[in-house]
Amino acid sequence: MTFAQFYTIESVASITGGVCYGKENLSIKTLSIDSRSLQLPGETLFFALVGERHDGHLYIKDLYKKGVRAFVVNNLESVDSKQFPNAAFVLVPDTLRALQNLAQNHRKNFLYPVFGITGSNGKTITKEWLYQLLNESYSIVRSPKSYNSQVGVPISVWHMNNEVNLAIFEAGISQPGEMDQLSKIIQPTFGIFTHLGDAHRENFKSEVQKLEEKIKLFSSCNSIVYCSDKKLVDESLKARYGRDKELISWSRNHAANLKIVSEEIKGSRTFIKAKYKKKSKEINLSFTDKASIDNAITCWLCLLNLNVDDKTIKEGFLKLEPVAMRLEIKEGIGDCTLINDYYNSDLDSLGIALDLMNQQQNDKRKTLILSDIFQSGYTNRQLYKAISKLLEQKKINRLIGIGEGISSQSKLFKCDASFYGSTDVFLADLNRNHFKDEIILIKGARNFHFERISNALQYKAHQTVLEVNLNAMVHNLNYFRSLLNPDTKLIVMVKAFSYGSGSTEIANLLQHHRVDYLAVAIADEGVELRNAGITIPIIVMNPEYHSFDTMIEYSLEPEIYNQAICLEFEKALKRNGVRNYPIHIKLDTGMNRLGFVQKDMDTLLSVIVKNNHFFISSVFSHLAGADEQQHNDFTAQQINLFTKWSDQILSQFPYHIDRHILNSAGIERFPQAQFDMVRLGIGLYGISCVHQEKLMNVSSLKTAISQIKEVSKENTVGYGRKGHLQSDARIGVIPIGYADGFNRKLGNGLGKVLVNGQAAPVVGNICMDMSMIDLTNTDAKEGDLVQIFGDDYPVSILAEQLDTIPYEILTTISRRVKRVYFQG
Ligand SMILES: *Cc1c(COP(=O)(O)O)cnc(C)c1O
Repeated sequence: MTFAQFYTIESVASITGGVCYGKENLSIKTLSIDSRSLQLPGETLFFALVGERHDGHLYIKDLYKKGVRAFVVNNLESVDSKQFPNAAFVLVPDTLRALQNLAQNHRKNFLYPVFGITGSNGKTITKEWLYQLLNESYSIVRSPKSYNSQVGVPISVWHMNNEVNLAIFEAGISQPGEMDQLSKIIQPTFGIFTHLGDAHRENFKSEVQKLEEKIKLFSSCNSIVYCSDKKLVDESLKARYGRDKELISWSRNHAANLKIVSEEIKGSRTFIKAKYKKKSKEINLSFTDKASIDNAITCWLCLLNLNVDDKTIKEGFLKLEPVAMRLEIKEGIGDCTLINDYYNSDLDSLGIALDLMNQQQNDKRKTLILSDIFQSGYTNRQLYKAISKLLEQKKINRLIGIGEGISSQSKLFKCDASFYGSTDVFLADLNRNHFKDEIILIKGARNFHFERISNALQYKAHQTVLEVNLNAMVHNLNYFRSLLNPDTKLIVMVKAFSYGSGSTEIANLLQHHRVDYLAVAIADEGVELRNAGITIPIIVMNPEYHSFDTMIEYSLEPEIYNQAICLEFEKALKRNGVRNYPIHIKLDTGMNRLGFVQKDMDTLLSVIVKNNHFFISSVFSHLAGADEQQHNDFTAQQINLFTKWSDQILSQFPYHIDRHILNSAGIERFPQAQFDMVRLGIGLYGISCVHQEKLMNVSSLKTAISQIKEVSKENTVGYGRKGHLQSDARIGVIPIGYADGFNRKLGNGLGKVLVNGQAAPVVGNICMDMSMIDLTNTDAKEGDLVQIFGDDYPVSILAEQLDTIPYEILTTISRRVKRVYFQG
């Protein structure tokens, strides 16, 4: 969304050095690069970007149908005036470069200050905090969310307009050579360096090279704010910019523009004292972690440099809240799904949240609870007209508008709509029966405190849930990706309900993050994913004869492990009149499970070579002991055998065949055996046999105490009167039993759970749906949260107690336990 002046298609062509085809004189206002998030199609210019795994040109037809009329493309075949009679095209050699050039040109129209933020971490937080701290003094445009890449930066800069007087953009790079381009587009006048860490290290030769690349952002700046405690940062900035720019530093250790004198943590607050221009200054923060404190000090120094007065600073930092950068998805009352996004409120983030809503469950009724949006640069009428259009497009069924602004424009909305002057008025009037079986997006500006609404609509029966942290999952995915060569493809194993963590939500996330394949155990799991809109290739590891027709219908690719199944699948293809269907050949190199062995090789080749109903998409094998040092020789032998046999197969076929043998442990321990692809499983879910510390915990099994009772020593607890007591005890009942996957062996004191961080042993036998725990040594109350395993109690410890592996614990949590997802 933007409020820039209109550009005509001809002016876009002249700026980007492109050639116009089709309709003349079309004007455009909004840029889009993602076919899924369209806001105002009639005034959108779509850039068909081409990536390794993505080609925007494939979406032109679909977008035309939705009303988009202007396209930037890189080939003449896409310019089809018969198929798209009302469209205008700009033909350029490189669509990404064109997008960047357009933004770079747009930037030149504005003379107000532009902050450019870079660093390894903290860019988005610093940007959002500066926005929070400065938005009463300035009218600000900023990058939406963390749009800081080669694509995100031009989209951000495009938001610049004449209604504002300060811009704050972040820039992030993952490869050498990228910052020059971003710097040209942003042309910052004021630079901010947040932090130097290890993210993206792998693509750079050294820390110095990475740093040198990052600080190129500042070449157009007059001043740069940074922390001089890291010597490398201090030296590099001084060497490069010391002569012609003002370097403004803060430090804990030595002289600096802002010298930190003391930091004191009391409870949940941090009190910081410092010296600035010989004067004492102080701020007071409502958080205590070092990363947040560092980012806050960087913001503080920016404000001091802008001569913001002490009182405003003090009040600003008091109000500063840790930025919740996640959208939460929770279970609501009446079978509703809640999506909470009460961290910022503007048209862009509304678009993003509505898209997430549509990704979740397309068939449910959709309700949006929306507050006033401030400082959009629009008049109320323009703003809510645009929102009304957006809601129509995203097929929102019901709007609940809260605030004077949106209420004043109630007539603009065509859907079922109701309006309230404030959050209080809405809550006073709230009838919970009015929310049934729908998906509700709660989106409000911070001062509307929509967390109160979310609280009121959230399902809160004492229940057992498996919380799945999708951010952690993405973190783990990125960690494993960082171990791969750039062109190694990635299969993610989502068999067994994604190792217990859920099916469609996880698959959606992985598809979004562009993994190459998903793999399931049986066809039904694949069908479920297809029905939920998963379009990337899916491999079925355990195809059953009776499901072959279904597999073909749903484009599920079989693992072929012997001649019989090969012939049978061929029959199914013939029956369905299908040719050229991808299959995956499994070789058994030592696991002695499914797979062809050496003596089958000739028959295998003779069956396949002559065949034109299928082709071999990949050949693979599975390691039996990749996670254990003691089996290293055996693993090496498996890899050798695999290389030999697969060479033999590959030599018979004129086309390319992918090879893969590594599972999660293999990726970490035998990176030289990546071949063309790897198969990531347990690592995604947060378990590593090598570098557990690099992974984040994904799943937490939680419940709450239903009842607490005092039981005297002579009594027993539970079935079989097994629960004997050492002394009078406080016994808590929790609604989780063996039918939920709480292993019965954990009863009678073997297992324990965490209540408010305190250990509580299981007393007596675990029942089917309930268990009893000893709370004698805790201060627990009814309703308190209980962790069975999770961030503070690793599933691997539980696995050890039960003499099993985390895989089993995760995959035996029963499906009746609700999965609750967090997304950032
Ligand atoms: C489950 C599975 C994997 C993944 O193994 P992890 O140890 O979870 O990484 C890889 N390949 C095959 C064939 C599998 O069945």
